Amino acid sequence: MTNPDQQNVETSTVGRVRPAVAALASYRPGKGAKQAEAEHGITNAIKLASNENPYEPVPAVVEALRTAATGVNRYADHRATELRSRIGSWLGVATERITVGCGSVGLLQQLCLAYLDPGDEVVYPWPSFEAYPIMVKLMGAVPVTVDLVDHAFDLDAVAAAVTDKTKIVMLATPNNPTGTALSTEQIAAFLDQIPPEVLVLVDEAYREFVDPTFGDPVADLGDRYPNVVVSRTFSKAYGLAGLRVGYVVADPAVVAELDKVLLAFAVNGMAQAGALAALDALDEIQPKVDLVLAERSRVVAALADAGWPTPDAQANFVYVPLGDRTDDIAVGLEKLGVVIRPFSGVGMRVTIGSPEENDRFLAAFHEVAES
Ligand SMILES: *Cc1c(COP(=O)(O)O)cnc(C)c1O
Repeated sequence: MTNPDQQNVETSTVGRVRPAVAALASYRPGKGAKQAEAEHGITNAIKLASNENPYEPVPAVVEALRTAATGVNRYADHRATELRSRIGSWLGVATERITVGCGSVGLLQQLCLAYLDPGDEVVYPWPSFEAYPIMVKLMGAVPVTVDLVDHAFDLDAVAAAVTDKTKIVMLATPNNPTGTALSTEQIAAFLDQIPPEVLVLVDEAYREFVDPTFGDPVADLGDRYPNVVVSRTFSKAYGLAGLRVGYVVADPAVVAELDKVLLAFAVNGMAQAGALAALDALDEIQPKVDLVLAERSRVVAALADAGWPTPDAQANFVYVPLGDRTDDIAVGLEKLGVVIRPFSGVGMRVTIGSPEENDRFLAAFHEVAES
């Protein structure tokens, strides 16, 4: 799998940029539908490349955003007091254990800012979320990666990679891009092997898509292991990716440090209002999540029938190990107007879209992969 920060390294000629920043690649977001249309001279392309929710926010959320828009001449509540307490009561967790950030990626950055000095080590399985190496290297800290086994985490190997230099372990469950999840029993057994001064980030960006039998890290682990930091987001299941709001559940001492490094007003007033309205509209949002889950089963079954088994898919995407054929298949799909996320030479990640979009993907995949 290519690591984006090993490519496109640009040299700065103005100013004395930090070496850690100079060594990073410029961020390249996933290709959009419009860009694919322009490149291939096609129309009607669809984007199944960024794990977004295919459905627009429910009307009550849109209405709340409209109302909040009239207040943007003012700074919002920096601490997002109402949203924190609402999340706390929703989860049955004390408000001091909750903080909010500019997406869960914002909180990831806060965690790195608050806890990493140059030379500190951060352990995470790889391939995993592509923001991890970027945030770690930005601090001058050192990523220590542990290979996946059968597209899933080998937690004993992760525990073995922890040294006295390790400050943080990052576990995305479900993992992006492979979609496999950890049970809370597995996480607890891992935590029992880890020194309590090492923070363990449990990144649950896709929690709402996970089979409930995997357990709930907040309910099952939070009180027993003060070093666990659970991050979640309104971006995926709640369909608010563009608003940028995520939250963390952690020990109050960790929350206090994260709060010190929150960029002023990073969670803006519309983001706070949209998240609050989403929490009021969970009964309208859940059916959309259920539809994505039903579609995920359908896509997984169709791929398996066609001879392409996938690792256990617990998020709103499927990972298809295509090996050497990945790059050709990705280009073929794109020419047919279906933009997915290829990982060169290993596999592709395909977001579950609307039923029509998934039909488009499956038809295109059959055409390209079986030719
Ligand atoms: C999408 C994703 C995020 C979330 O991003 P936001 O900043 O909350 O939009 C976090 N972690 C993983 C593993 C993801 O795939």
